[in-house]
Amino acid sequence: METTKKDIRALTKEQLREFFVAQGDQEFRGNQVYEWLWSKGAHKFEDMTNISKDTRQMLQDHFVINHIEVDQMQRSNDGTVKNAVRLHDGLIVESVLIPTSKRTTACVSSQVGCSLDCKFCATSRLKRMRNLNPDEIFDQVVAIDKESKLYFNRPLSNIVFMGMGEPLMNYNNVLKAIEKITSPEGLGMSPKRIIVSTSGVPKMIKKMADDEVKFGLAVSLHSAIDEVRTSIMPFNATFPLADLREALEYWYAKTKNTITYEYVVWEGINDSKKDVEALIQFCKFAPSKVNLIEYNPIDDGQFQQASNAAIEMYISMLEASNITVTVRRSRGKDIDAACGQLANKS
Ligand code: SF4
Repeated sequence: METTKKDIRALTKEQLREFFVAQGDQEFRGNQVYEWLWSKGAHKFEDMTNISKDTRQMLQDHFVINHIEVDQMQRSNDGTVKNAVRLHDGLIVESVLIPTSKRTTACVSSQVGCSLDCKFCATSRLKRMRNLNPDEIFDQVVAIDKESKLYFNRPLSNIVFMGMGEPLMNYNNVLKAIEKITSPEGLGMSPKRIIVSTSGVPKMIKKMADDEVKFGLAVSLHSAIDEVRTSIMPFNATFPLADLREALEYWYAKTKNTITYEYVVWEGINDSKKDVEALIQFCKFAPSKVNLIEYNPIDDGQFQQASNAAIEMYISMLEASNITVTVRRSRGKDIDAACGQLANKS
């Protein structure tokens, strides 16, 4: 009977060193193999040319190296790149490279499908199949970093966890992936260039604060009125705004990091003066800024982008209250790569 081999990349460096000692080899062999796996991105044991043939065979007998494969890559007219990424078990997730004049940002997925059910989001229609492993998250970033160098002659500058899935529902693996991305053996990126975007899971926001994470926090808010928010993000009934507010106050008290609220304005849903007033009140609980995001329709027309007049009202009222507001135009709409459109359609 064949036993299932373990993914060697699930082992820490320490565990790899211990493995080699248990095999009667030297500890440093673990360092060498770790370097092949993470710094040099080896996909096969036979690529590890400074490791003896016998040792490579022994590794082959015990482990597999699970790597993602970019199954399909699409490029938008505006330069945005969308990868459909095949995981070792055949499941697919999507990740996106968003270029601007100054930066290239990777938008990565944390789950296959999503545990939550935001009504405006294409991913919510996919059943949540499983959480991504740390190496699967890391590999998405590496793939986009390569594309950034290939197409834009510069390495990836920023990462947002805003692809498929709710990152705080896969917290431990997201954290491990970020550790790897920021470590010298990984990509050596500054955590300040990484944003984890959540729909707002209060308990996990507090946990992030307790863990003293160094990356940024964004919250997909979309309404500061419980009734409205629950109608578009039904899990808000379980995690109401009062709980979210308390968690965000806790986050700021511990980290002193400003919070970004991601906010889409939809016609007839949250485009009234009352909605803006509620948002302004919510912004006062902890230092924050608002990112108004252009809406990308997903095919059934239930949600429509609000009028320019409504967007202008938001901007002027927020600015009059001294709240920083930015407007983010969508990228990659023609290839379904924009916010809320990731649904494995390619
Ligand atoms: S918006 Fe985010 S949390 Fe909500 S369903 Fe989509 S992927 Fe999940």
